[in-house]
Amino acid sequence: MTLLEQIPLYPLAPLLFAAATALFLLQMARHLRIFAAAQPVVVTDQPESRVRSMFVYSIAQVRMFRDLGPGLMHAAIFWGFVVLTIGTADRVTFGLVHATLAWPFDGWLWRLLQPVQNLLGVAVLGAVGYALFRRVVVRPRRLTLSRDGLTILLLIAGVVAFELLAEAFRIGRFGDPDAAWSVVANPIGMALASVLPAWAMAAGYVFSFWGSIAIVCFFLVYLPRSKHLHIVTAVFNALFRKVQPRGELPAMDLEAETARFGVKTIDDLGWKDLLDGFTCTECGRCQDACPAWATGKPLNPKTMIMGLREMTVDAEKGMPLIPFIKPASAPGRAAGDGLGQPIVDAAIPYDAVWDCVTCGACVEACPVLIEHVDKIVGLRRNLVLEESRFPAELTGAMTAMERYGNPWGQPATARLDWTKGLPFEVPTAAQVAGAGPEAVGELECLYWVGCAAAFDDRNKRVARAFVTCLDAAGVSYAVLGQEESCTGDPARRMGNEYVFQMLATANIETLGRYKPKTIVTACPHCFNTLGNEYGQLGGHYEVVHHSTYLSRLVEEGRLRPDAQEGRSLTYHDSCYLSRYNSVMADPRSVLGAVPGVELREMEKSGKGTFCCGAGGGRMWMEEDRGTRINAERTRQALETGADGVATACPFCLVMLRDGLADAPGGRGEGVGAQDISEVLAASLPARGSNGRDLPVIQPRV
Ligand code: SF4
Ligand code: SF4
Repeated sequence: MTLLEQIPLYPLAPLLFAAATALFLLQMARHLRIFAAAQPVVVTDQPESRVRSMFVYSIAQVRMFRDLGPGLMHAAIFWGFVVLTIGTADRVTFGLVHATLAWPFDGWLWRLLQPVQNLLGVAVLGAVGYALFRRVVVRPRRLTLSRDGLTILLLIAGVVAFELLAEAFRIGRFGDPDAAWSVVANPIGMALASVLPAWAMAAGYVFSFWGSIAIVCFFLVYLPRSKHLHIVTAVFNALFRKVQPRGELPAMDLEAETARFGVKTIDDLGWKDLLDGFTCTECGRCQDACPAWATGKPLNPKTMIMGLREMTVDAEKGMPLIPFIKPASAPGRAAGDGLGQPIVDAAIPYDAVWDCVTCGACVEACPVLIEHVDKIVGLRRNLVLEESRFPAELTGAMTAMERYGNPWGQPATARLDWTKGLPFEVPTAAQVAGAGPEAVGELECLYWVGCAAAFDDRNKRVARAFVTCLDAAGVSYAVLGQEESCTGDPARRMGNEYVFQMLATANIETLGRYKPKTIVTACPHCFNTLGNEYGQLGGHYEVVHHSTYLSRLVEEGRLRPDAQEGRSLTYHDSCYLSRYNSVMADPRSVLGAVPGVELREMEKSGKGTFCCGAGGGRMWMEEDRGTRINAERTRQALETGADGVATACPFCLVMLRDGLADAPGGRGEGVGAQDISEVLAASLPARGSNGRDLPVIQPRV
């Protein structure tokens, strides 16, 4: 018997499906019309990387497996759903899919598909059960029990159950020569047929068939307004992902006369930002990873993205479903009105905008590649440049950067104070250039000291340790001295693009005079900005972090650390070094080269590191909401039981030093925080390879 004979009103099924598909497409077209009103975004660069991302993150879903249980659950639902769609497609095309797949290999392809479909159907039901159990019973903090989420899970379970049942009733009632291939439906069908009369089997088949068709059609109509839309948008979100270096904030043209500075409303966002909103699965991984949220602050990256989606959907209100039809003037407002609503205090509270340390943990955690940080900095840009609304304590740092070229407000003449008392000269580029401006280019490297090492007393000792290593290795180097200014990283992340560009332009001009072969810096923020962001303004350099440089010197045998007393260290990964720039092995290799040092890893390390609390300009802000981020990171460091904490960032060093000093119960007493260059320099022989005396660096701080 054919489907037409088995199912009353069967031809209605394809018609219903076609109508539901049309409604789905019309709603999607309405989303696209909103996207068209957003800012343009170029997504044609680096096509290979984009296509790779699509397969890695969207098809293989590699990030989901960082959390194995939920990862397997999601994979089962996703792949089960995809494969079961083949059966649905067959039913609504009058058996066309079956005929097509059965034709090439004498029906074998279709037969082989049956056990796969059956088993995946069971896997989907199990996965939905697990998902419901987690949401209703386990209730992890990051998951919200929403009506939408429950509806979607029940719809998925419903469609799969009805499909399996329909198959079982069909086989049990009408038989099928290939029934044995339906490894789940066949035994169920046989069992049902042994207890039910033929008419009940036929009715069960009809009911299950129409049940599955009804749910599929409802699903199609419901999907464009659900968080489950990510099954469609995640592929495009991966394809159109940000392919620039993670640490590169979007360029900004301050000369553009008509432009809005930064992001104020939804229509200041790029269409890719709106796509981010429609792709959010509400999984809460970003919320779990966020140090601000973990320490009780109002910032929640998940609710920000959900809020942006709600604002976008709100902007669609009043927009007709059918394109080219004018919106009704009443009731309500005109189409797209909501696009002009301010985002701050709607999708994200004002305080939360300033709680962000721009650590990128949210972006790293997000399985569908949503970019939170660029949006938050976009909001800060608007608040700073257009509204002059920012925490009062930032005024001092911003003014100091603008007037003195550093957030400490120190005069440029003090930039070389850290060199005082060293037993060797630290040459400046200007001195080296006495032999001709190109002479600096002949040097092995230009050491970019950075403001922290130049003006903060604790970090001056790091600069001394680093040049001690350079001197010991006989490296020919120079510093810029008074000619160096802040790279502008803090200004940019505070939202003050004007000060950033002013500082960056001056530095690019200075560096252009000397054309250094390689720039080395101990500051991950300088490293990121010089290497990843100066290119936007025409500055292209080879920039190396000091951990990489020192690791190479050790590897080449130019530095030979001696034995030192045995002690354990835990290494704290700086966000801008590990997460943003993937430098994780080099600092560990430097520490590993020092005899007697035992390395103990914290649970959150590498790209999964936990911020020290100083990024995003927060070094210069009060932390009066929630608990302190550096206290939480210090707690994690102390949990390892290590004798000391090693860092490779001047800001992390200060934050962890303070965290250790304030650790409850004096637990941080006797546990020092040191830069990796200090650990290395302390273990060097007393005389450098060039025979000169080296300063004594204390092994413990
Ligand atoms: S960048 Fe860090 S602090 Fe900011 S929202 Fe993301 S995880 Fe939270
Ligand atoms: S933004 Fe990403 S990580 Fe955060 S809830 Fe949405 S999908 Fe999950």
